[in-house]
Amino acid sequence: MTPLERALRERIKAEGPITVEAFMEACNAYYYSTRDPFGAAGDFTTAPEISQMFGEMVGAALADAWRRGGQPPKAIYAELGPGRGTLAADALRVMRSAGFCGEVHLVETSPILRGIQQETLPEAHWHDSIDDLPQHPLLVVANEFLDALPIRQFVHATERRVTVSGGDLAFDRDGEMIELSPVREEAVKAIAQRVSSHGGVALFIDYGHERSAKGDTLQAVRRHGFAPVLANPGEQDLTSHVDFEAVERAARSASAEVMPLVPQGEWLKRLGIEERAASLARSNPERSGEVEAGLQRLIDTQQMGELFKVLAIHSPDWPPLVGFE
Ligand code: SAH
Repeated sequence: MTPLERALRERIKAEGPITVEAFMEACNAYYYSTRDPFGAAGDFTTAPEISQMFGEMVGAALADAWRRGGQPPKAIYAELGPGRGTLAADALRVMRSAGFCGEVHLVETSPILRGIQQETLPEAHWHDSIDDLPQHPLLVVANEFLDALPIRQFVHATERRVTVSGGDLAFDRDGEMIELSPVREEAVKAIAQRVSSHGGVALFIDYGHERSAKGDTLQAVRRHGFAPVLANPGEQDLTSHVDFEAVERAARSASAEVMPLVPQGEWLKRLGIEERAASLARSNPERSGEVEAGLQRLIDTQQMGELFKVLAIHSPDWPPLVGFE
């Protein structure tokens, strides 16, 4: 039994069955604070860890938005859940060469990942919460952050809980599921509020669906494969599909402008990732196979190209972002 499972069983004994939201929150807090989960030796691989081109395209998009937003000198680069800091390093390289010299602010709760980010991004400032970000124009990116935030599940209007049954952790009910994520919506609202009042843009990149729909999307990933959700609490990554319709509504309610949702592959192609791949392959012929494989993983509709989507929001005072229409 994992140490977290022991604690959760104690809690259920004391409080009664706990919500899926409480379970997911506890599991992910433990999971991320005790390991570096990324890459071949870990549990899963994210887009910035596949290829430097991903972060470079994000950097190009943010640099362009900053330039057309009038290059406010106090604008900062802000990232939510930056993982190893790879995306920030690749994006900032492009942004710095475009003249951006603002500060770097990272919202990260995991002490282990903060340690790794410190090596990649020694100049950064760290925060526990979005509310602690400086009140300045923001250039925000969050890749695979929203999917890790806890969801609530409802079956016939009754909230689904985790209990102990026959000696094992078990869900208290099954059936047609409705998922809501107040925590996720609050995070998007907090960013949207800042962007709409101080200026700036935000990119949320994640896997999910364009329209709210019924269904159970809670999943666990361990060592690059799916695992039973209630197995090994705290030792596997729990995520759910992002309901982009709900997220867009949250952003609009905080007065941000919302760009049309675009699949990741399409967006990266519009930003010129294929040209970037060709130029990388030309200057590093020995790496051309790796560059092409990375490109395909990011843009192919059978891989990450279609399932992952890019949601961009911007301040009403800033022009719309390019690559979304
Ligand atoms: N963006 C990175 C990592 C994605 S994994 C990449 O693309 O590689 C999720 C990240 O969000 C991790 O860095 C994790 O520690 C962080 N995280 C999860 N829940 C969080 C929370 N509530 N507040 C801040 N960071 C959180």
